[in-house]
Amino acid sequence: MNLYITHSSCRLHDNGPDHPEIAQRMSRIQDQLISSQLFDWIPQMESRAASDAELLLCHAASHLENIKAKLPKEGVVCIDDETCLTPGSLLAARHAVGAVLDAVDAVESGKAQKVFCNVRPPGHHAEYDHAMGFCLFNNVAIGAAYAFEKYGYERIAIVDFDIHHGNGTESYARREPRVFFASSFESDIYPFSEAKSDIPNMLKMPLPKYGDGERFRTVWRELAFPALRAFKPQLILISAGFDGHTLDPMANMRLHEKDYFWITEEINAIAKEFASGKVISVLEGGYDLEALSLSAREHIKALFELHL
Ligand SMILES: [Zn+2]
Repeated sequence: MNLYITHSSCRLHDNGPDHPEIAQRMSRIQDQLISSQLFDWIPQMESRAASDAELLLCHAASHLENIKAKLPKEGVVCIDDETCLTPGSLLAARHAVGAVLDAVDAVESGKAQKVFCNVRPPGHHAEYDHAMGFCLFNNVAIGAAYAFEKYGYERIAIVDFDIHHGNGTESYARREPRVFFASSFESDIYPFSEAKSDIPNMLKMPLPKYGDGERFRTVWRELAFPALRAFKPQLILISAGFDGHTLDPMANMRLHEKDYFWITEEINAIAKEFASGKVISVLEGGYDLEALSLSAREHIKALFELHL
């Protein structure tokens, strides 16, 4: 069973004018699914709002208090060079996290096997004690922490193919040895992470500027998939960022929609071998609206095995 989770409140977050992380990102993905005549085939639900206690599964209390204190009554307040808050930002973030928690509940109860969370703000740059890189709370990491705590999972893989390194998820992997974090990303762009994989439960795969789909596929095929199979995940969470697309303005990679279809099929295969097919995919980046909507559509087609 497949499940698509979203919430209209995720659109309430706004980074202000001329910012690439906009609410239309979510609606363009959904519109693309509708116009491709896929949406009617996908069961859907609205996400709940994560509670304070749930946000704190992966974050310092001071971080949540800081967001609450800085939340403006009107207008836009920026908390760093690229991350801003509007009055609806905390509610938006609660629903983004809540979608992943609902997804964990759904795969655990048998309501779903594969879930796509069409949510924002994104999460993988959010650190334990501060927001950064358009991210307020780490949606995927909180989902993993919730699955460990509520359902007693022992091994969860987080797979991140966003073109920026998920530094916040790396921090989480350093605190949580039951996670295996595999990530490909373009070297020497934001957030300028170290390329070295220096802990056993993390695999970083830096990619060269202007790398193409073959380069991308090679590192996943030769490095990540064997490591994931050795780890034997009981659940796979995907940080699904589509900003490696050749048309995306935020990086220099040359990926195409078909590369996202390919990697999703490969992740599905690993989930079937070890995780009873359970995969939860959560939207991260992707800033060219047309490339984002087409890439996400191919990802969702492969994830949900929609051969229409
Ligand atoms: Zn990104």
